[in-house]
Amino acid sequence: MIARSFTGLAAAPGLATGAVLIYRATAAHSETSADPATEQSRLVRAIAETDATIATHEAALRAAGQTESAAIFAAHRLLLNDHGLRERAAALVREQGQAAADAILAAAEEQAIELERLGDAYLSARAADVRAVAMQVWRALTGAGGLSQRLVTPSIVVAHDLDPADLAGAPRDLLRGIALAAGGLTAHASIIARSLGIPAVVGLGDEILAAAADARTMVLDGDNGLVLLDPPADQVARLRARPRERAPRGAVARGPVTTRDGRRIRLLANVASPAEARDACAEGAEGVGLLRTEWLFLERPDLPDEEEQVALYQAVAAALPDAPITVRTLDIGGDKRLPALPLPREDNPFLGSRGLRVCLSRPEIFLPQLRALLRARAAHDIRILLPMVTTVAEVRRTRALLEQAQRQLVAAGRPFAATIPLGVMIEVPAAALNAGRLAPEAAFFSLGTNDLTQYTLACDRGNHRLADLYQPLDPAVLRLIRMACDAAHHHGRPAGICGELSGDPQVTALLIGLGADELTCAPAALARVRAAVTATDTRAARDLAERALAAEGPEQVRALLGHTL
Ligand code: PEP
Ligand code: MG
Repeated sequence: MIARSFTGLAAAPGLATGAVLIYRATAAHSETSADPATEQSRLVRAIAETDATIATHEAALRAAGQTESAAIFAAHRLLLNDHGLRERAAALVREQGQAAADAILAAAEEQAIELERLGDAYLSARAADVRAVAMQVWRALTGAGGLSQRLVTPSIVVAHDLDPADLAGAPRDLLRGIALAAGGLTAHASIIARSLGIPAVVGLGDEILAAAADARTMVLDGDNGLVLLDPPADQVARLRARPRERAPRGAVARGPVTTRDGRRIRLLANVASPAEARDACAEGAEGVGLLRTEWLFLERPDLPDEEEQVALYQAVAAALPDAPITVRTLDIGGDKRLPALPLPREDNPFLGSRGLRVCLSRPEIFLPQLRALLRARAAHDIRILLPMVTTVAEVRRTRALLEQAQRQLVAAGRPFAATIPLGVMIEVPAAALNAGRLAPEAAFFSLGTNDLTQYTLACDRGNHRLADLYQPLDPAVLRLIRMACDAAHHHGRPAGICGELSGDPQVTALLIGLGADELTCAPAALARVRAAVTATDTRAARDLAERALAAEGPEQVRALLGHTL
């Protein structure tokens, strides 16, 4: 018997088996209103209660070093405490005699519609956040249960989407996995699932809700984006027998990694905070391959100044003494915005002021970061990585700013490093196509396959409707990876891969065959990737790469990798 299977996006790794729980957030219904004064004080109490709950989630994630997820809750608190939202809800109670529960939903809906009307992808996503926080207040007022009340046995939750608070508040021993119809890899639910270590597959489409309705059990493979309904025992056993399941927990391998035939591959980690750098060290990383600095700045009302940045980079470096720490300069724009740095609205933000483009146009922001990096390098092996590089001229302009930063430090009498390796991210097709020109300007390449896929295939990485098209294994993307690695090697530079692809052990041999010298991935994926590197034979990997490059499409590449069951 073959199970019904569904493919979505592999949002959080791990294998989950369990009963199926279809979850629909409780439909809001109208409440009977008491007198306005009572409703008003109920509203104030419910908002305070909700704020405290969200603050608890935020603090727990921050204490666990999950900066990115904590920032989502920090943003929710800002929305909840927005004066306009509270005032409007209070006015609906006072002036129209509405029940507090109805008033908060109505006020949030008005705000959400306003945000959506602005036609900006980022603000539309904030509309969903406003609705989510209002729904929490509504639950506090009506006593309606969220996910935590529905979960009574260990289950895999199938839903259209999940609010961050629903997810963070659910009992971990009962929430085995998450299968969502909506969502992309960078959606809030995906980020939080990864932080909490809950296997997740997202972007499955609404079919999953109908199909799962009559299923009793489910297997969810968060590594491969696969969901199986009522699978037969032998199929479950095959999935369980994969190397991931055999890897002994706790026994972390360390030290230099080589392929079976002795080719050295550097294994580094992607991190967003000092705590994640400590996780990376615990998981045996040889250093940090990508420190996403924007996450350090995300929830703050102001940008950290030079001193604070020096301390942040030193704190990350202290977690991995003597190891290389690759710090990516501020990468905002597209769907990433900082409250401290509002950017003008653009019709196509992913094709607009993003990454290095923003920094080059704002030296007052870029120079302090460059100075902080030069200073941190005085005591640590810091390397700089530039995001969203498109042209050689951009790298030269950055180098000129770096020299200006050095002159400023001399004038200020600050100790700093005289030289610092300047690496270039290859995540725009133009950079891969022109890699032969960029390589002499760069100390190393780091290939951002997340964006490289989005730009090569003209396919928004966060749009689950395009998930069929968003395929990092498309031969067109692989060809650009090969091109960039070849150009790096021709000029004696190392090439690393830092997109999500490098955390997939099934792709490791292919990436090595295409020419990757470094693989940099989430700390949690390091052990599996390490095992995959040591199992790789370079000659066979090159052969595999040739066949993948000649393949017709991503399905054929996946078949070559044994990616399908
Ligand atoms: C990438 O684009 O592959 C990458 C690593 O950068 P980010 O995901 O932060 O855009
Ligand atoms: Mg990128």
